[in-house]
Amino acid sequence: MIETETEKPSIFSLQFSTLEAWLKDHKEPKFRAGQIFDWLYKKRVTSFDEMTNLSKDLRESLSNDFRLTTLKTLTKQESKDGTIKFLFELSDGYSIETVVMRHDYGNSVCVTTQVGCRIGCTFCASTLGGLKRNLEAGEIVAQVLQAQRSLDEVGERVSSVVVMGIGEPFDNYEPLVSFLKTINDEKGLNIGARHITISTSGIIPKIYDFANEKLQINFAISLHAPTTEIRSKLMPINKAYSLDKLMEAVNYYTEKTGRRVTFEYGLFGGVNDQEEHAEQLADLIKGLKCHVNLIPVNDVVERNFVRTSRNQIFKFEKILKNRGVNVTIRREQGHDIDAACGQLRAKERKEETRG
Ligand code: SAH
Repeated sequence: MIETETEKPSIFSLQFSTLEAWLKDHKEPKFRAGQIFDWLYKKRVTSFDEMTNLSKDLRESLSNDFRLTTLKTLTKQESKDGTIKFLFELSDGYSIETVVMRHDYGNSVCVTTQVGCRIGCTFCASTLGGLKRNLEAGEIVAQVLQAQRSLDEVGERVSSVVVMGIGEPFDNYEPLVSFLKTINDEKGLNIGARHITISTSGIIPKIYDFANEKLQINFAISLHAPTTEIRSKLMPINKAYSLDKLMEAVNYYTEKTGRRVTFEYGLFGGVNDQEEHAEQLADLIKGLKCHVNLIPVNDVVERNFVRTSRNQIFKFEKILKNRGVNVTIRREQGHDIDAACGQLRAKERKEETRG
């Protein structure tokens, strides 16, 4: 394939300091960065031409170097419970999903970090077609902005962000961190670190790196099993990064940041949902500053896992509680529009249209 033109980067990939450096190179005063961020994140314009307090020359240089429109809304579905699922098209034709969840305490946006995923968890829909490509930081930022634009219509605000859509965030590390810094920046979307949560399947070296970033962001780990044998059956990544090493890394994280972590534990009928598993789980996380979030498995047609009964879920929860574990059961949202955990999938439109 012949590349005709290299894609311009998204303007949303620029952190505030990077934009200041770009302005300096273009002999423009630093304060313009504040004006540009204001147009992008507070006024949420859709073209450089709308940035009327900048000179025409500067607007032209910006549009020569950057893209401002990065996502096109292909579909927007709304669930009975208010959950909204967007299907966005990227500039190269791939598409991704973003979900807005409405809670009584605010609205949270669940963002995607990659087109597809290469981690291969046996229960997850996002990994079915493999990994197509990483998202740019700006393509992740733009998902939150698009969600905010849609909430602008009803006078509501994005109050929290969860990095739990398609993809493994730590498999796209630098853009992820840039995205986090931009949405957290008070000159950007100003979403407080404690209102941002990221989840990983357990890429250990990146857990150490992330601990050293010293961000006050909530951190979740997809654990899903109390023993390394069961975890390897559910998540092939456990063969590369074993459970004991994962627990060491998590321990390092809690000590370094002083923050507790969340363990996501999907209940898969007969596989990891028995009383003995609850006991083993309590042993495994003993003494760790943590919280366990039980996720009743969501149906994915290509995967045949059995849902654990309500009764068994409560039994499992009770054992953990009796052992002093801080535990909650995840509330499900957006089921009728396939927007629940693990149900998002990258649509392979690009391949389809190429024939
Ligand atoms: N790749 C990251 C981010 C995904 S977050 C990670 O693995 O943590 C989405 C959460 O939903 C993860 O905990 C994932 O393991 C879980 N999940 C995936 N498929 C699921 C399913 N069918 N039912 C319930 N949870 C699922």
